[in-house]
Amino acid sequence: MRNILLIEPAYKSKYPPLGLMKIAAYHKRLNDRVVFAKGCVPEKRSQRWDRVYVSSLFTYYWNETIKAIKYYQNSVPRRSDVIVGGVLATLLRNDLVSETGAKVILGLLDTPGVLDAGNKTVIDNLTPDYSILNESNYDYELQNCYIAYATRGCPNECKFCAVHQIEPEFKGYLPLRRQIQQIEELYGDKRNLILLDNNVLASEKFKDIIKDIKALGFAKGATYSHRNKSERITTVHRYIDFNQGLDSRLLSEEKMALLSEIAIRPIRIAFDNISLRKLYIEKIRLAAKYGLSHLSNYILYNFKDHPNDFYDRLRINLDLNEELGLHIFSFPMRYVDLKSKNRLTSTPGNIGKHWNMKYLRAIQCVLIRTRGLVGTKLEYFLKAFGNDHEEFNKILLMPESYIINRFKHEEDGSTELWWSQVCNLSSLEYEVFQNIVKNHLFKTININDLTKKVRKVISHYLNKEEN
Ligand code: SF4
Repeated sequence: MRNILLIEPAYKSKYPPLGLMKIAAYHKRLNDRVVFAKGCVPEKRSQRWDRVYVSSLFTYYWNETIKAIKYYQNSVPRRSDVIVGGVLATLLRNDLVSETGAKVILGLLDTPGVLDAGNKTVIDNLTPDYSILNESNYDYELQNCYIAYATRGCPNECKFCAVHQIEPEFKGYLPLRRQIQQIEELYGDKRNLILLDNNVLASEKFKDIIKDIKALGFAKGATYSHRNKSERITTVHRYIDFNQGLDSRLLSEEKMALLSEIAIRPIRIAFDNISLRKLYIEKIRLAAKYGLSHLSNYILYNFKDHPNDFYDRLRINLDLNEELGLHIFSFPMRYVDLKSKNRLTSTPGNIGKHWNMKYLRAIQCVLIRTRGLVGTKLEYFLKAFGNDHEEFNKILLMPESYIINRFKHEEDGSTELWWSQVCNLSSLEYEVFQNIVKNHLFKTININDLTKKVRKVISHYLNKEEN
């Protein structure tokens, strides 16, 4: 019997670590002792382990991941007995090995013998062991859902996406029924079904996938009965969510009709590029036609887009809500270089060609109050993002405290004063001002080198909140 420790580094995560859960199932089959922990836990480090597995997610969690690997390195016989897999490990393999000496598993655990030569088990096909989650106090938002894949990989290679590097082979059909039934048998039934497929619409067996979903109890209008805290039986709706979004280019009317037969909520249609505007609007109309009224759509920004495109994509959703009576939430996703070791805007590659530090910070400030989501109320949107491009661009330049505390600064007149002073700059002064603000140079400029008018404008940015 071997002693196996599974570690998820201390980054935030909504999803339970499926890879580690499958590794837990694998080692338990071999009668090994398996323990799971989140982050750096002294009591776990003080024990001796035959192997420590560390999962990894986005590359910008580099620091947290390296910290976890190094933390447990002295708890195993050799540094290479710390085994790291996942997105970061696959994309930054060489850096990770030279920094830690850990062993890296690239991509998926979908071939036999990856962890132990000669073993015939395909770990990726195992039922994830949900029971390990009880060993940690960390609360995964989605831990009480069935989480599975109906497909793997994606036939496309979008430049802003790493799926083709992590899951290079597109597998168009993985039997869902078996996966879900086994989770249910082993760990009890769950209310909702989360499918993590990257591009399920690319599957030639999409019809069969929908059939599976219905057979599993997730047809349109499906309900779920359970005992509540006071031991009463309560019945609620249950939902299925293709969490990674659907590709509008592949969303035919036939597929939309099939989607409307299952308890999908929300439906997520990616709107990554303004060039998809016509197609996207068509698909939203189609969703409305089939009664799919709750949408939550990913809006990529800071890639090749222009801020005005970003505004337009959000605005289109708001206008469609008004026109069609839908509830489309927009979920802006800031692009970060696929190999970036942090999310800082000062890191090369993390700022898109048409964006800059100030604009990105401004978007963050606008989204602070809504926890990153753009809701369905047009009035709120117009206040937050402006009535048109001109107002939006003004908001992007605005001092951060004026964005966050919009009403306060409008009422006390400081926003108006700031803007009148900006409008009063000569074109040369305006350029100087923009350069300072867009590149966040407040700490490096010598205020005495600036003209009086520029100084006045900049003074609005020089309070505690800006720095
Ligand atoms: S279609 Fe989606 S999953 Fe496929 S490469 Fe593009 S962004 Fe990635």
